[in-house]
Amino acid sequence: MSASPGHPDAKGRYGAFGGRYVPETLVPALDRLQAGVDRFLPDPGFQAEYASELMSWAGRPTALTRATTLGKRWGAEVWLKREDLAHTGAHKINNAIGQTLLARRLGAKRVIAETGAGQHGVASAAAAARVGLPCVVYMGAVDVERQAPNVDRMKLLGATVVPVTGGDQTLRAAIDEALRDWVADPDGTYYVLGSAVGPHPYPFLVRELQSVIGREARAQMQQQAGGLPDVAVACVGGGSNAIGLFHPFIGDSSVRLLGIEAGGRGPGLGDNAASLTAGTPGVLQGSYTLILQDAHGQVQETHSVSAGLDYSGVGPEHAYLMQSGRAQYEVATDAEALDALLECAKHEGILPAIETAHAFAGARRFATANPGARILIGCSGRGDKDMPILQRTVLKELA
Ligand SMILES: *Cc1c(COP(=O)(O)O)cnc(C)c1O
Repeated sequence: MSASPGHPDAKGRYGAFGGRYVPETLVPALDRLQAGVDRFLPDPGFQAEYASELMSWAGRPTALTRATTLGKRWGAEVWLKREDLAHTGAHKINNAIGQTLLARRLGAKRVIAETGAGQHGVASAAAAARVGLPCVVYMGAVDVERQAPNVDRMKLLGATVVPVTGGDQTLRAAIDEALRDWVADPDGTYYVLGSAVGPHPYPFLVRELQSVIGREARAQMQQQAGGLPDVAVACVGGGSNAIGLFHPFIGDSSVRLLGIEAGGRGPGLGDNAASLTAGTPGVLQGSYTLILQDAHGQVQETHSVSAGLDYSGVGPEHAYLMQSGRAQYEVATDAEALDALLECAKHEGILPAIETAHAFAGARRFATANPGARILIGCSGRGDKDMPILQRTVLKELA
């Protein structure tokens, strides 16, 4: 596991982005985490344990599937990296089990996590149960209401779910509450952060744990497709599945990297969650990155049909990759994503998560503009969790 040269620097910066913008009270906890990351991530014993859990418990390596019908329809060669087949149904388990194993090595007595839609909460609850640590999940009260089935899954996995009634009562408030808990007991508690966001070293740690996606996909493309893709496409919420897919390809200059954000209802402030394509630089939850804010620096509410992309910031490494030109970012609207979801389900027998469907919509647009392209899509998760919203939207129209 090696970082790309120079990134992040010693202060956790990717170009101008990243770093650590936190109150003094958080510094000891982050320093302790940093020391753990420096010591254990390169440690062969830790890596062997992590690799073994990924293989024997989380179901890795995940398959690389040729999407033959989509390829014919789009006039392209389409390959899917199947994180939907990973344990608990998405890429989030790669990060959750890695950080929970790290927590045990650091001597933590309990882990805490935040969750928005509930997917990271479920992955963290499962990982904590596996490793044998108690788990508390902070979740905005609005999300507890909206995502009841995931709340029950976390409880069955032995976690305690704490509804957060302050702030916006969604993901942002849940992260703030988890940070408060962590500060109170940085030695006994480990905070499992769910995406490549927040203060250094989290964006680096999450990227290193999620890069298993791109390493596997790169080798599988060479083996099954006979070469690298022309483009790798992934959806971007906080950016963890995308950076995990992209990172091992960064040195391959022939491989374009394309991230797809939530275009929501349209380009107006508050109507989407497109922090990279519509945001401006600022500090959010400990990191200098691109965020959705008004002219006075007030962070804006976001909208997306997919709960997992509904966040007003984005991981700092994506801001850097966009600024440096190494990766491009576009949006797919709610309607485009739902349309792409239907196409994939009907023609490939795979029901992707609505988050993932944004990547399919972006890939389809890329195929139209680049006939015959070889396209790798990060299939970040499965759509079973989205049944309630699918019943209210596309299923209604099918009826
Ligand atoms: C959480 C989630 C995402 C968005 O998170 P990233 O950190 O941007 O990857 C995307 N897809 C699925 C299936 C998710 O559960």
